[in-house]
Amino acid sequence: MSLIRHFINGREVADAERTGPVFNPATGAQQHEVAFASVGEVEQAIAAASAALPGWRATGLIKRADVFFKLRHLLVERQGELAAILTSEHGKVLSDAAGEISRGIENVEFAAGLVHLLKGEHSEQVARGVDVHSTKQPVGVVGAITPFNFPVMVPLWMVASAIACGNTVVLKPSEKDPSAAVFLAKLFQEAGLPDGVLNVVHGDKVAVDTILDAPEVRAISFVGSTPIAKSIYERAAANGKRVQALGGAKNHMVVMPDADLEGAADAAVSAAYGSAGERCMAVSVLVAVGDVADELVDAVRRRMGALVIGDGTDAASEMGPLITREHRDKVASYVTGAAAEGATVVVDGTTQAFDGDGFFVGVSLVDHVKPGMKVYDDEIFGPVLSVVRVESYDEAVALINANRFANGTAIFTRDGGTARQFEFDIEVGMVGVNVPIPVPVGAYSFGGWKSSLFGDSHIYGPESVHFYTRSKVVTTRWPNPSESQVNLGFPSNH
Ligand code: NAD
Repeated sequence: MSLIRHFINGREVADAERTGPVFNPATGAQQHEVAFASVGEVEQAIAAASAALPGWRATGLIKRADVFFKLRHLLVERQGELAAILTSEHGKVLSDAAGEISRGIENVEFAAGLVHLLKGEHSEQVARGVDVHSTKQPVGVVGAITPFNFPVMVPLWMVASAIACGNTVVLKPSEKDPSAAVFLAKLFQEAGLPDGVLNVVHGDKVAVDTILDAPEVRAISFVGSTPIAKSIYERAAANGKRVQALGGAKNHMVVMPDADLEGAADAAVSAAYGSAGERCMAVSVLVAVGDVADELVDAVRRRMGALVIGDGTDAASEMGPLITREHRDKVASYVTGAAAEGATVVVDGTTQAFDGDGFFVGVSLVDHVKPGMKVYDDEIFGPVLSVVRVESYDEAVALINANRFANGTAIFTRDGGTARQFEFDIEVGMVGVNVPIPVPVGAYSFGGWKSSLFGDSHIYGPESVHFYTRSKVVTTRWPNPSESQVNLGFPSNH
């Protein structure tokens, strides 16, 4: 069984005193071991990133940008290979893996514009003979900790912008599907990134805590579940670091009585069951307004029977397995427990039989769900769609605004006024109007509100340039000796 190793200072290394299993979720068989970094190995990675920082920071912007242009080319060229890695370790179907990679490439394209992004500002003559300019300088070594569900896109959300801004990085990907991160680091190297600028360490809390506690690491980007995001935020902030920690989600899709019901049903099924519901922007609650519910539930149910669930390498499969056996069983428990909570299980995917030992579960639809039920309150992160019936638009908004998660939401309506009001009223970071998964394009930033994000910066896009740089403001006078004098007053520009 092959060992997936760390990538430190441009080389694959591992003492492999501790390891973890990496499965193929479609077969249920273990396919690799992944090394779990010791404190010493993480310290080596941080030392490599610290040593590479002065050189990378001093590298000309055009030369830096060149790495991203080359990287984009390599990612496009090797997309098929990378997608195969994603499917074999994560389980998502190959077309979905290709979609993830193309969204990651958007972040590389954004980073390639770094010469423009890193421009400062200049004000001439703020006082007689005095000019002011501001400049954006890197924060230093960045720690990046990523979840299992997007093993390419989420690392690129962080790593592309951080490196473009002149920082160096220690990336700790998910131990469940770690190969893609090493593949990415090697592509960066091939694209001309100097050794030590991007390092990858695998592992668990030992690796993460070492990154969080290291004084050399100046900023932390985290994406994962809410309890871990909160603890990362608190520990990193207590250590004086800049931190953004994106957490879990419970995304609601509102369907108004005037919506195109067939279109809304297509969107709900796609967004709820795509990638087996293991997307932080997956729709997990359908909010049926007024008398729309019966027809909507029926339209969703009709579509569910046609979905093809199977090994992601099979081109016919539309949905693959879940990430682990334990996660699959946990997801199933929400469906099997829903009836006892007072909900109606319309389609029970947990009873669907699959050949082999893969971590598959069928798709489920649960109606008459209410806050207070576990199926509503928890982030399930699987192919389970709940339906909450409400009387009015106001009730829909109140329901969503009372939820502790606030990553994404969507409204389906034909009425522009209702859509505009929803955009105004809703307390959620990313909003779709007739778009079920409103993931912003790479030139905007991504982030939720409330328990879906701890910290004040969204990730990738313009906010990432802000997050990964420190602003310095320089006030300049070139003195005329004849104007020089002693003046103990506070410097005034008037
Ligand atoms: P997770 O929180 O279990 O793990 C995320 C990362 O934290 C991994 O690298 C993991 O090794 C590490 N980690 C886990 N436990 C830790 C601990 N006790 N101390 C330190 N580090 C620890 O999340 P996951 O299961 O890999 O990913 C799924 C979650 O991520 C879902 O909740 C999903 O909503 C969320 N997610 C959010 C976004 C977003 O943008 N808001 C995007 C993708 C995924």
